[in-house]
Amino acid sequence: MATQEIQRVLVSRRRIARRVQALASEIAASYRGRELVMVPLLTGSMIFLADLMRCLPLKMRVDVLAVSSYAGQMTRSREPRILYPKKLQVAGKHVLIVDDILDSGRTLAAVRAILRRQRAASVRACVLLRKHTALRLGMRADFIGFDIPDEFVVGYGMDYNHFYRNLPEIAVLHPSVIATGPHGGNSHSRIAPS
Ligand code: 5GP
Ligand code: MG
Repeated sequence: MATQEIQRVLVSRRRIARRVQALASEIAASYRGRELVMVPLLTGSMIFLADLMRCLPLKMRVDVLAVSSYAGQMTRSREPRILYPKKLQVAGKHVLIVDDILDSGRTLAAVRAILRRQRAASVRACVLLRKHTALRLGMRADFIGFDIPDEFVVGYGMDYNHFYRNLPEIAVLHPSVIATGPHGGNSHSRIAPS
């Protein structure tokens, strides 16, 4: 991963680690020993989930949900689609949705509606990042890691056209990468969840 592709680091590894630990304490206190079903939205939340769940001293299950909001090199979201699974085993359960970013709020709204239809006992959401747009639109999440400006970010699980998920910090890409695609331009679009 060429360092010139990264314009700047927005949140360092240290800050992420400290905040994830604090979020886990908030979550543990608010569920107070109740059993939980963590529902991470693939693929962007996987590293966040892995760090968060290891700090949570609660009895839990993990049921992944694949949602697609971005396609290929798009950096604006469109109507979210649930790609997997058709049905979750959440009836009567306390569900905590785990997502990477709250932006327009459409993804979270769609997922909340599905989980409620499947008669979860409670549905709450934890997001690593809340963009300024979400704040302005009054989009709600119950647990929030960091508020960030309206910039396209990568790293710590989050991608641009499949790349950069393995960056250990949260970073902003150089605008030339967004214009030409990562690693010198790659125009393949994707169906995989972001
Ligand atoms: P929303 O439906 O709230 O507009 O979009 C939320 C979803 O879009 C997130 O789950 C995330 O997958 C994706 N997303 C939004 N902003 C960014 C971003 O800056 N970088 C990346 N990699 N994904 C984003
Ligand atoms: Mg996502």
